[in-house]
Amino acid sequence: MALFESILETIGGTPLLHLRKIEERFSLPYKLYGKLERFNPSGSIKDRAALYMVKKALDDKTLCPGMTLVEATSGNMGISLAMIASSFGIKCHLYMPSSASKERIKMMKAWGAEVYLTPAEEGMDGALKRAEKEVRSGKAVMLRQFENLENPHAHKMTSGPEILKDLNGEVAALVVGIGTGGTYEGLYHYFKVHSPETLFFAVEPASSPLLSEGRSGPHLLQGLGANFVPSIVDKNDLKNIIKVRNEDAYEMTRLLAKTEGVFAGISSGASLYASLHLPLQTGNVVAIFPDNGERYLSTEGLYD
Ligand code: PMP
Repeated sequence: MALFESILETIGGTPLLHLRKIEERFSLPYKLYGKLERFNPSGSIKDRAALYMVKKALDDKTLCPGMTLVEATSGNMGISLAMIASSFGIKCHLYMPSSASKERIKMMKAWGAEVYLTPAEEGMDGALKRAEKEVRSGKAVMLRQFENLENPHAHKMTSGPEILKDLNGEVAALVVGIGTGGTYEGLYHYFKVHSPETLFFAVEPASSPLLSEGRSGPHLLQGLGANFVPSIVDKNDLKNIIKVRNEDAYEMTRLLAKTEGVFAGISSGASLYASLHLPLQTGNVVAIFPDNGERYLSTEGLYD
């Protein structure tokens, strides 16, 4: 138990869970741990990057009192920004295609954000164009998570040190899904300095193998696999890429809840699947589990 003055102080410091039952079930020769990012206050890993990006924008005065925080997102970043904007007393406008899930839209509204739905057939591009239009009004700022270097920096400063400390400096491998690449790159650069022998495994959707094969396509691994290579990602840092199929990620997401009691999102299932197939004989392996499962309840085919 601890006493906090702001919800933002509760970001980070998430639990690292030893997945003993999964180790046994799959006869893993190495130890497997899950970093439970659902324990962040808005329920996902994005709180870390969002906080660093907002703080930097406030510090360098690109975000000034009276201005609005604007983003085009239907995902976890929007939920994090809504929470952080609420805590700082900043207005937040989020643009997303009308196909976005109802529970996500309601969560963002619950934190006080204004949600603008754009035509579903225009996809994320349509939402981005509307958000850009508001930015051009001069009274709004967009933090652009796919380019903003505060995104990886947040992980270099927080997630990296947490993991290394919790395992007393002994981490054989990290398994990290790539969306913006912020988590991967931040951890990669932290470990390169503080534990250079740690191996890195990136996770991407098998049906959108953009990083490993250069082609993208539709996939169901929400949060992973953008249809472009984000500028944050340095391909030279991607030493090993594991491709995970939709159905394997779904199955592992369900298994994680039923065997270890960890109700996580689909990208956690993807990282778990990848973690079971590593070319290692010993050591501590850490898989990042980015968010909680409740925001996927309406996802077709996952729980029905
Ligand atoms: N999983 C989920 C559920 C996410 O929302 C994200 C963020 N898009 C990721 C994984 C990937 O994290 P990153 O953007 O840091 O690569």
